[in-house]
Amino acid sequence: MDQPGLYRSRISIKYSPVSKKSSDIKGMSELAMINELMEISEKLANDRKQNPVLLARMEFACKGQSPRFLIISPVTRSGQDLQLFNMSMGDAFHATRIPGHALLPPDFAPTLFKGPASFNRDFPHQKGVIVTFDIDEPLEIIRETIENISLHHDLNTLPLIAFQIDYQNGRVKLIVHGKGRTYEYENILLSRIRVPDELDNDLLVLICSDSRVHPPHSNNGIPMAIRTLGGYVPEYSGNHDETEQLNEFFQKWLSSTGNSKIILVVAHGNFEGEGDSCAAGTASLNPDTISNPSLKPTIEELKRAAEEFESGPPRNPEDRVKSLSKATRANLLTYPAIADAESMFQLTIDELLMDTVTNTLSQSDIFE
Ligand SMILES: [Zn+2]
Repeated sequence: MDQPGLYRSRISIKYSPVSKKSSDIKGMSELAMINELMEISEKLANDRKQNPVLLARMEFACKGQSPRFLIISPVTRSGQDLQLFNMSMGDAFHATRIPGHALLPPDFAPTLFKGPASFNRDFPHQKGVIVTFDIDEPLEIIRETIENISLHHDLNTLPLIAFQIDYQNGRVKLIVHGKGRTYEYENILLSRIRVPDELDNDLLVLICSDSRVHPPHSNNGIPMAIRTLGGYVPEYSGNHDETEQLNEFFQKWLSSTGNSKIILVVAHGNFEGEGDSCAAGTASLNPDTISNPSLKPTIEELKRAAEEFESGPPRNPEDRVKSLSKATRANLLTYPAIADAESMFQLTIDELLMDTVTNTLSQSDIFE
C-alpha cells in the first residue's frame, strides 16, 4: 500500500486463481469467467497506462471526478453506451432504467434514478443529461421517460439529450422534445458515435454510478450493468416501484435461453493504495453531512443496509463498500425471479472489488 505511482507492479496474490470447493459443480464455468474478467481488467489497465491521454485521466481520477454528463441507460446497454459515445474514464456519471419500461418518476425510482441524479447535482462542469433507448422501444415509453426525467428537481437546469439507438450498426436517432435541448452537445455526441462491441447477455454487473469505474469486459463482449450509488440494489418491495420493474427484468433475462447467467456485484474503492474511495460509500459513513434532501434518504439507506453486515464501525470506505456488496447480494435474493433461478442453479451471484483508478478487478475475500 505504500508504493507510489501507477506503474508499480501489482501484488502477486491477486493473480492467484479463484478457488472454491470442487463440489461446487455449478461454479466451474463461473470460476473460469471470473479469472478471465480479472485478466482482461489487468490487460486493459496496462493498455491505458501506455496511452498518455488515458493515463492523465487516471492521474485525475486519483483526486476525484468531474463528469460532464449524467447518462441514463437501459440495463442492457449501459456499458455499450460508453463505447457508442466514445467516452473514457470520468466522462459520465450513471443512472439506470429498465428496458421496455418507462423510467418511473423520481420518488418511485430512488435507487436507479433519483439518488444518482441528485448525487450528480454538485459536479461543477455538467453539460447535460443523456438518456438512451433501444431501437425497438415504443414512442410512449420514450415520451413518459422524458416527462419523468423532467420531474427531478436536481436536473432542472440541465439540457436533456435523448437518442434512440440501433446498437448493431451504431445508427443513432436524435429524439426531439420540449424539455430543454443543447444543439451543441447533441452534435458533439453525434460526431463521436462508433459501433459498440457485442453485448454479453449472460453477465450482469452491479456497479457504482461513479464516472471513473466502467463495467468489466468479458471475452464475449460488454456486460449488462445496473449502475447505482455504491452499486447498491434495494430489497424487493412488492410495491409498484423500481423493484417491481427490476423483478420483471430479472424474470425475462433469467428465463431467456443460452448459457447460465452470472451476476457480479462489484464494489469499488482505493484497493491498490493509490486512488480514491467510493464517494457514495464514504458519504454513507456519515449521512448527516448530506444537505440535499433528495439525496440524503438514499445515503441513509446505504448506511442502514451495510450496517447489517458489519460487526463494528468500518475502518474506512473500502470496508463499507464491501458490506454494501454483501447487503446487495442478500437483497437480490428477495426478488422472486432471482430466488427461483438461484435455487434452480441457473444463476450464480459473486462479489468482486474494482480499484477506482485502474479499474482492475480482484477478489473480495483476499483483502479481508
Ligand atoms: Zn462509488
